[in-house]
This record gives sequence, C-alpha cells and structure tokens, in this order.
Amino acid sequence: MDKPRFEALLGAYVESAPGNRLRAEIALRPDLAGMRFFEAPLAGYAAPDDGYFSLLGRPEAIGGHFIPPREWLPGAKTVISVFLPFTAQIKRSNRKDMIRPSDEWLHARIEGQVFQNELSRYLADVLEDAGFAALAPPLDPRFRTGTAAITDKTRQDFYTSNWSERHVAYVCGLGTFGVSKGLITAKGVAGRFISLVTAAEFAPTGRAYSDVYEYCTRCGLCVRNCPVKAISLDTGKSHSLRSEFLDETREKHRPRYGCGKCQVRVSCSHKIPGRKNSP
Ligand code: SF4
Repeated sequence: MDKPRFEALLGAYVESAPGNRLRAEIALRPDLAGMRFFEAPLAGYAAPDDGYFSLLGRPEAIGGHFIPPREWLPGAKTVISVFLPFTAQIKRSNRKDMIRPSDEWLHARIEGQVFQNELSRYLADVLEDAGFAALAPPLDPRFRTGTAAITDKTRQDFYTSNWSERHVAYVCGLGTFGVSKGLITAKGVAGRFISLVTAAEFAPTGRAYSDVYEYCTRCGLCVRNCPVKAISLDTGKSHSLRSEFLDETREKHRPRYGCGKCQVRVSCSHKIPGRKNSP
C-alpha cells in the first residue's frame, strides 16, 4: 500500500459511498433527501515519534491523559489525519439564520458523523487487508472524553479527550488553529476530521507553519458570529458557554444538535485567509 493508492481509495469512497449522502427516510425535509455531506478530502501524515505528539501531553496542549500513537498501536509507523470539508450546500444553508443551526448543518453534524465512522472503519480495513495493522483511536474502546479528576463543567479543561482530531491534524500538517479553536486547513475550517494510526509507512507531510495560530488573521468574524458570545479575541473560546448552547439546540432538535456559526460567514470558512482557494 503506497500513499497514492491509499489516497485514491479515500477519495473514491468519499465521492461515491452512499453513506456520504442523506437517506430520504430520515431527512428533516423532503428536498434534503440525497444531500451530500462532504467534499473531496485532504490527508496529512506524521511519524508516531514526531516530537509534537509528546508536546500534546503537556497541560497547555491536551494534558497527561493524551495517549500517544504507539500506545494506541504498538509498532505504528504513521499517523494519518483526514479533513472532510462540508459541501457548499451545507455551509450556505447555515449562513441564513445566524442563531439557529440549519437543517442541513444538523444533518451534516450527526449523520455526517455516522459517515465519518464508516469511513474510518473502511480505511482501517483497507490497510489491514494490505497487511498493515490500523485503528481509528476515536472508535477504539480506550477512547475517553473528559478526565475522572475534573467534573466541573464550567472549567475549560473539562472539555478534553485522550485523542484530539484537531491537534493530531495540526501535527500531520493539515493546518493551524483559529481563535474559534477550529483548525484552518487549505480547504478552510468548515468540516470534520478523522484519523488513523497504522503500521503502514507513509512519508510525513511536514508542517508548512511554525506557529499554532499562523493561519488565523484575528479578523474577529467568528467572535461576531457566535450566538452566545463564547469566543473572544483575548481569551479564545469558552467551551462551557458553547456546550450550554449545544445542549439547548439538542433540546430543540433531538437527537441532533449543532451550531457552526463560527465556520460560516468567516474569512477562514473555505480557505486559509488571504490565500487563493485550494483546488
Ligand atoms: S474568523 Fe477570523 S479570527 Fe476567527 S478563526 Fe477565522 S481567521 Fe481567525
């Protein structure tokens, strides 16, 4: 299995798998039947012994509960991160009402997550079938959100996990963080991430940046958009305010929830601000 073959299989699956489209029987509106969730993906790669994975164990990054790649998979040779950009339809829909999540966004967040899991399992199977052990940490029984020691939901460090898609994507060269705490990639911030740890060896992507916030221009548009003022240029994002708001959306839209107003009507929605759109 080489990188071009892996990326061809990844791209083909995102393009044609039925799971990347909304099933008619669960659509919130008839016109949304068949709606596609994700556009063509971006992939980034890092070696498991990349020093940045050790840095994620520091309190100012994720913390000591972060499980490094070779603890997830002894013998791992590569960490793969994949960015799945939301389609233009989904992004556009969430621009109309800047308080309530659009039906399209709710589907992309929840049914899109089902597809993310399906894609993670498919890619792990592809690698396993080629003779290389592979797993997706968020689907592993060891994956945990939160920590046993912190139960106060108003604390920033309550909102954590032992594997972070965005931090891993940063290490894999896919982009840098914004004030909104999203990761700004060459295809913008609006989308989702998956990741795999595998014994297959792929060359690292390398990081075309030296600062964790390098692509963020601090334009403040995500601050302006946030319906509950959870984002500040000075203090970043309040996870507890965001979480309270998501709980409110869950009450209204159960079993779905979502917001995403910091990912639309912003300069980093589709691209790195100030740069041309990537193909
Ligand atoms: S909207 Fe502006 S301030 Fe917010 S993350 Fe994007 S570039 Fe940074």
